[in-house]
Amino acid sequence: MTPNRLLVRGGQVYDHDGDVHKPAIADILIEGSDIAAAGRDLKVSGEHEIIDAKERLVVPGLINAHYHSHDTLCRGLFEELPLEFWLLYTLPMGANRSKEELRARTLVGALESLLCGITTVQDMLGLVPLDDESTDVVISAYREAGIRVVLSPMVWDIPPIAMLRHKDSLPLEVQEMLGTTGRPIREQLDYLERQFKRHQPGGTLHWAIAPFAPQRCSPKMLEGCADLAHRHDLAVYTHVYETKGQVLIARDQFAAHGGSLINYLDSASLLGSRLNIVHSVWISRPEMDRMAAADAGIVLNHLSNMKLKSGIAPVCDLRESGVRLGLGCDNCSGSDVQSVFQAMKLFCLIAAVSEPEPGHGLAHEVLRHATLGNARTAGLQGRLGAIRTGYKADLVLIDLRDVAYLPYNSAARQLVYTEAGRGVESVIVDGRVVIKERQVKTLDVDALRREVADLMRHFIADYDAVVASRKRALPYMLEAHQRVWKTDVGNNRFINRTR
Ligand SMILES: [Zn+2]
Repeated sequence: MTPNRLLVRGGQVYDHDGDVHKPAIADILIEGSDIAAAGRDLKVSGEHEIIDAKERLVVPGLINAHYHSHDTLCRGLFEELPLEFWLLYTLPMGANRSKEELRARTLVGALESLLCGITTVQDMLGLVPLDDESTDVVISAYREAGIRVVLSPMVWDIPPIAMLRHKDSLPLEVQEMLGTTGRPIREQLDYLERQFKRHQPGGTLHWAIAPFAPQRCSPKMLEGCADLAHRHDLAVYTHVYETKGQVLIARDQFAAHGGSLINYLDSASLLGSRLNIVHSVWISRPEMDRMAAADAGIVLNHLSNMKLKSGIAPVCDLRESGVRLGLGCDNCSGSDVQSVFQAMKLFCLIAAVSEPEPGHGLAHEVLRHATLGNARTAGLQGRLGAIRTGYKADLVLIDLRDVAYLPYNSAARQLVYTEAGRGVESVIVDGRVVIKERQVKTLDVDALRREVADLMRHFIADYDAVVASRKRALPYMLEAHQRVWKTDVGNNRFINRTR
């Protein structure tokens, strides 16, 4: 069978190394899932479908390097809330849900992502129960949507309550609301290894390993993850230093590792080029330098860090340290949008406001982070993140007739500062046209809307019950939270107040 052939003709093709303000016009020939050629006036013979890209900017598909599909249906249920409080509601609402809900929430997140020009999501999935059947539902939903996924069901053996500093000050009943039961290590590692065989990577499916967070994993669990990653040649993602409380937990509980979660990861053979730590709001400069020296990466999630009151990751120090960077959009109820455009803009704005002197423009740099950098987090460098011969055909066509480009002065700057997602017109993933001229080709969006409306009747009733049952916990949680915030960690540059 001859592979499908597509010719994307006459667009301005964004090249990281070319003119990032006015990209040159070029054609892109796609054969099967790959870019077979890119260049001016390609001569193509034989059968092929033509996509007219005149007055379109063709950009590499955006990659979201941190996302969780398990709380998609919680979108719009919260405003600002500290992380630990938010977990009180979102943890139960992501666990033990019906297969129908599992499918719908995966599709909704994938759909939103695609419509915003995201062609790859790194789904750090909280799957409860962690079983074959649920995994099949998620993978099949991703295949149906047609988005590329780097899937990493999260594993952990230390109970969720370990996320909380001063947990012992909480009544047992409140501790149980967050979760006081661990999970067996071997069972989870075996589960992962089984999935790699049941669903072999290829096409739009990629695997990664996700120990939830260092403080949620015993040395044995982390070592098991390191071993799996090494044997299957996979990237590792884990949440590190998202909140101030986690710095204090590191100091208390990981004193044997110098009070550093980075040292702890290193002791389990995880500090290396496969590792990506997510958030890093409260990372210290020596830890950044160690990460950089180890070629480990950091995935920033400014949107959720601000909404969940965690703080602001130190962009300038991170850039100075030379550590490799990626960007994520995080949860649908913690940020709340799957938009790499927003994540890129916030990166530039936070860098801007962090230094008083005039700086160098970062638009072209952040576009690299959101494409090449994010591909690198998953070990997919050389395959994703650029429009080059031999790369996967993951492309987005942006309509330059949108008012965001009126007038059109710079592709890089307007993609980062002006584009709200409205210009995304067509999306190609793995050589397949998933959205064509704003029409979703893979999903019946109206049917999905009806399914979700139907599911939400139960979902909201369950959510209301969770909210009512958590009321009792709030004063205790608040007290623990205030104790954390009163503690000086020797660094208060992230939250500025005049008093
Ligand atoms: Zn996360």
